[in-house]
Amino acid sequence: MPKLPSGRPWLLAGLLTTSLSLNLYMVTHRPPPARPVLVVPDGEPVGVNEAVSPPSGGVSIPVEVVPASMSPTPDVALPIERGVAVNNPDWNILDEEVSHSLARTFAKAEPKNGAALSAVYSRLFHWDIDLRRDLRKGDRVVVAWKVGDHGVEIAAALLTSGKLGRTLSAYRFKRGSDAFPSFWERDGSEIARRLKESPLADYEMVTSLLKDRPSHAGMDFKTPEGTAIIATRAGTITRTNWNTRANGNCVELKFSDGTLAKYLHLSKTGVKPGQRVSAGGVLGASGNTGRSTAPHLHYQLNKGRRVLDPVTIHGTVKRSIHTGERDAFRSDVARLDALLGNALARR
Ligand SMILES: [Zn+2]
Repeated sequence: MPKLPSGRPWLLAGLLTTSLSLNLYMVTHRPPPARPVLVVPDGEPVGVNEAVSPPSGGVSIPVEVVPASMSPTPDVALPIERGVAVNNPDWNILDEEVSHSLARTFAKAEPKNGAALSAVYSRLFHWDIDLRRDLRKGDRVVVAWKVGDHGVEIAAALLTSGKLGRTLSAYRFKRGSDAFPSFWERDGSEIARRLKESPLADYEMVTSLLKDRPSHAGMDFKTPEGTAIIATRAGTITRTNWNTRANGNCVELKFSDGTLAKYLHLSKTGVKPGQRVSAGGVLGASGNTGRSTAPHLHYQLNKGRRVLDPVTIHGTVKRSIHTGERDAFRSDVARLDALLGNALARR
């Protein structure tokens, strides 16, 4: 595990972890993005992270449903276990059939927080389904949510998809070995994938995939300031801290095949142009510099003028709940299912 340049970030991480452990369901997701697209001097479009500023006046999420005539009627039953008594007045339950678009469905059901909820919900499932294109008439969303200190938080969510022919599930749970909670399917596999070669020692979640926004050339990782930034592959540092007004502190690393890896918005850089680094070497620490509204890493790959998808280049893995924590996870899933199920039963 790479060492951080200073101990302070770990203190923050420790405090955060403790806080999260004390309250498993105090999710701290923030509402989404209204993202400006920047163009850095060398012509590469670079998006900024808007992932955490509360929406003012509503966030527009372009989610469209294919025409009903093209949509098979889903006959997938929601995997709800009933009968577990749970009385948690903190969580609101939204249970809706998708009409027209995800954004409109949430906005109609929740005029005040629908836009933020839609954005947080969308990020749970963006690895598996394109919510702008793949929703169909009859699809159903169920979510346990509330507004916490940092915006809309989700404890559990379901998406019954006609296109996939199954129900995706996401239950919040923090493994003992992790710094952050994540979302897991009922079978204990993480709903998000992880890059095989990660640019960060640890992070909370990927807030933007390349496929989410064609105008945004990188992947965004939500992570506290001070997280170690890692060389995904061995290479040579080609430049640092260019166009800092937009990029903040930044590092560019050239792999042996000529691919350029860019790491933006760092709190500090720890390498110099011309320096050789090996895979896993620390390049700096994550931050919130340049045109960035929340601590995160923008990771981008270019080959010539082409933008490459880190998901394709590095490959991904799916993590699982550890064997020793499966009982605890199942118990949480049962409680959350009861929350969702009680609401369904009351309709
Ligand atoms: Zn970005």
